Amino acid sequence: MIINDEPARTIGILKKYDLMPRKKFGQNFLIDPHVIEKIIDAAQIEEGDCVLEIGPGIGTMTRHLCDRAAKVIAVEIDRDLVKILKEDLLKDKENLTIINEDILKVDTEELVRKENGGRPIKVVANLPYYITTPIIMGLFEKHVPMESLTLMVQKEVAQRMCAKPGTKDYGALTVAVSYYSECYLAANVPCNCFMPRPDVMSAVVRLKVLSEPPVTTGDPAKMFAIVKAAFGQRRKTLQNALVNAQGIDCTKEEVAEALESMGLPALARGEILSLEQFAAISDILTK
Ligand code: SAM
Repeated sequence: MIINDEPARTIGILKKYDLMPRKKFGQNFLIDPHVIEKIIDAAQIEEGDCVLEIGPGIGTMTRHLCDRAAKVIAVEIDRDLVKILKEDLLKDKENLTIINEDILKVDTEELVRKENGGRPIKVVANLPYYITTPIIMGLFEKHVPMESLTLMVQKEVAQRMCAKPGTKDYGALTVAVSYYSECYLAANVPCNCFMPRPDVMSAVVRLKVLSEPPVTTGDPAKMFAIVKAAFGQRRKTLQNALVNAQGIDCTKEEVAEALESMGLPALARGEILSLEQFAAISDILTK
């Protein structure tokens, strides 16, 4: 049970250390105990787990993660916060390793090898919103051993991750996330759950990492080049979007033929294609 002392604790810490939350690091600290509880529950942390927390901030969630998991690794870019966490706020947490680094520069695969013998970790984070997509895609593309990612993100990004083909939210991020994981929206989170309040609504998503991609394609890099081109110019037909795109060597006629062979209109836009159909058209255009 998480006790409702978070707003007072956060104000107290900011005062004690004369801290101003840094906008450039996306510092919006969570102060709602119910939301913290929801994230921890959604993460399904078990006793033997190793957790990677990205951006522990002033340690609000980190304390609870340390109480549930066998080991917690927390990567924080802000040197001042790291000092306070190590010397005061979390100094009693013996199963915690704090790393002062930019998560985008960390060799996460090596970190998991060193800290958890290469066994899959669980990622839990209230992410800095200015780099949400690079963080998620970096972890997936580097094939970091992970069981799941439980993440606070901007609500709009959560909707894009979990979207269905043909909807306005469906895009390159949806296709990429569904290639690597199953997405589940765990909670919507209003602005007043943070200090300072962000300008946008937030949401908690849980991405359960798949052991194998749900589709097979001969050339995943080509499939993702097609996806990128299709959504880069999403109002164009797929024929027009692909014909001059980098890394895809094809004519309009070839795209039309491929679409028709899949039972789709020759003038279809990329936004109606499912992940399976992107894999299929990629393989047809490669032949
Ligand atoms: N976990 C805390 C909470 O829930 O209250 C803080 C969350 S705050 C939205 C994002 C945190 O990520 C901040 O502590 C910020 O300093 C940190 N951060 C921002 N950019 C980062 C980066 N590139 N690498 C690691 N941490 C980063």
